[in-house]
Amino acid sequence: MQRDPECIFCKIVSAQVPAFVVHEDQTTIAFLDVGPLAEGHLLVVPREHHARLSDLPAQLAADLGSKLPKLGRALMKVTSASALNVLCNEGAEAGQVVKHVHFHMIPRRDADQLGYRWNAGVYPAGRAADLAAAFQQAIAAPQS
Ligand code: AMP
Ligand code: ZN
Repeated sequence: MQRDPECIFCKIVSAQVPAFVVHEDQTTIAFLDVGPLAEGHLLVVPREHHARLSDLPAQLAADLGSKLPKLGRALMKVTSASALNVLCNEGAEAGQVVKHVHFHMIPRRDADQLGYRWNAGVYPAGRAADLAAAFQQAIAAPQS
């Protein structure tokens, strides 16, 4: 299995560094974030080291994603949260600090002051259609 000896999440996967693990299976591990945005903030991490979500082999992404509903139900039950955010930061510009793919699962409740609104834009005429066509081409390309 691919791992990076310098990577903090690889060290948690191999139990070199302690963490409050809430779930472990062959491909995935979930543990409490050490700097929680709210009590019960989880990180869901593939055991194998891949820096970015876009690098993740499809099967590992499927395995990781398949754990989210069950972890979400547990998170709601344990924290009594009424809602949650799932967030993946890819790349430093998007806020990724730990360069090992992870999903944040953040418990949310009414008036918790964490905020969630980003500044939404508007497409000028024709731009959305052009973008959709560019996406379709990129996704169909053999190296995608
Ligand atoms: P990101 O900004 O998306 O890369 O988030 C990295 C997250 O990893 C942060 O929320 C940190 O609090 C968390 N983190 C860093 N080191 C540890 C650790 N040893 N155990 C648990 N969570 C950690
Ligand atoms: Zn790693």
